[in-house]
Amino acid sequence: MNTVIEKPFNWIKPHAQASNWLIAGPCSAESPNQVFETFTQLKQLNVNAFRVGIWKPRTRPNSFEGLGADALVWVKEAAVSCNKPVMVEVASPKHVEACLKAGIDMLWVGARTTVSPFMVQELADSLKGVSIPVFVKNPVNPDLELWIGAIERFAQANIEKIAGIHRGFSTYEKLAYRNNPHWEIPIELRRRMPHLPIICDPSHIAGIAHLVADVAQQALNLGFDGLMIESHKNPSAALSDAQQQLLPNELVEIIEKLVIRNQNCSENQAFFGLQAIRKEIDAIDSDIISLLAQRLSFAKELADIKLKNNLTIYQPERWQEIVTNKFLAADKLGLPKEFLLKIWQTIHHQSINTQAMFFDELKKAHNS
Ligand code: PEP
Ligand code: MN
Repeated sequence: MNTVIEKPFNWIKPHAQASNWLIAGPCSAESPNQVFETFTQLKQLNVNAFRVGIWKPRTRPNSFEGLGADALVWVKEAAVSCNKPVMVEVASPKHVEACLKAGIDMLWVGARTTVSPFMVQELADSLKGVSIPVFVKNPVNPDLELWIGAIERFAQANIEKIAGIHRGFSTYEKLAYRNNPHWEIPIELRRRMPHLPIICDPSHIAGIAHLVADVAQQALNLGFDGLMIESHKNPSAALSDAQQQLLPNELVEIIEKLVIRNQNCSENQAFFGLQAIRKEIDAIDSDIISLLAQRLSFAKELADIKLKNNLTIYQPERWQEIVTNKFLAADKLGLPKEFLLKIWQTIHHQSINTQAMFFDELKKAHNS
C-alpha cells in the first residue's frame, strides 16, 4: 500500500517565470555579508524561497564543511530582511532541532542522506508533530524505490508538505554533466506519486554554470513544478560548488529566457491533432505487443532443443549476431544504436529467462 499517493500534495504556489516554484541561493553560507548580498540581489527575481547550505556533505575531508549552526541566526535575518522564506539542508535530528530553533522555514534532505533509510527515519522521527515543508532530493544512485521510500518515511511522520528535488545521479565515468539526469526516473516518480510536487535542481545536474540554463529548460519541457538554482554574489570565490553557481544577474537573464510550457492540452486544436496521432501510435503499440508475444512463444521450442542437445541457454554468437543485425538496421533507418541495443537487451534477457524457466519445467517432466 502506498501511503503517499492519496495525499493532497499540491501545495506549491506558482511562480510566473519558473513554471511553478523558484528557489535560489548560494550552495553554502560563507559569511553574513555573502548571504545578505546574494539574497538581496536575488530579491529582484521574486523567488519563492532562498536556499543555503549550513552543513555541507563533502566527498573528501579537509574541504569547507559549512559554518554550522551559528550561521542560522544571520541566515534567517538576511531572509527576513528580504521578506522571503529560507530553506536549509538537514542530515541529522541535531540539524533539524537547530533549524527549528532558528525559525528556518523549510528543510531539504540531501542526496547523500536520502540513500540511507536509517538517517531518513531518524530525520522523520525528529519531525513528528512539526509542521514544516520537507523537500527530498533523489539519492545519489539511480534508485527510484529509495527516493520513494524516503518520501514515504516523511509522509508517515505526518509531514504534509513534501516535495521531491531531482538533482541527477552520480556516475563513475565523468559525462557532460556532473550528475546524469536520467529523466526517466523523475518521470516515473510522477507516475507513481501524481500529487507530489517535483522540482529540478539544474545546478547539481549540470555541475557547470554555462549548462544550467539548458538543463533548466529541459526540466520545464518535462513539466517539473519548479527549479532550485544555486547563485552566489561572487561564484569564482565560492567555498563550495564554485563552478556551477551563477551571479544573481546571470540567473535573472536565464529565468527571463526560460519558456514555460503547458501540461494540460484541453480540447483545442492541439488536443485533436495529438489525439489523431496517438490513435496511430496505440495501433502500432498493440502490433508490437502481439509481435513480442509471438517472439516469446518460441522460447519453449528453443529450450527443448537446447536441453536435448545439452547446449547453454545463452549462446554468445547468436546474441552477437542479433546485435550486429540491429545495428545495421539502426544505420539504415537512422535510429540511435543505443536505443535498439537497450530494447533488444530487454527482449533477449526475457527470452533467456523464459527459456530457463522451461528448462526447469522440461527437466522435471523428463525426470518424472
Ligand atoms: C546542495 O544542494 O548544495 C547539495 C549538497 O546538494 P546534493 O545533496 O544534491 O548534492
Ligand atoms: Mn551545492
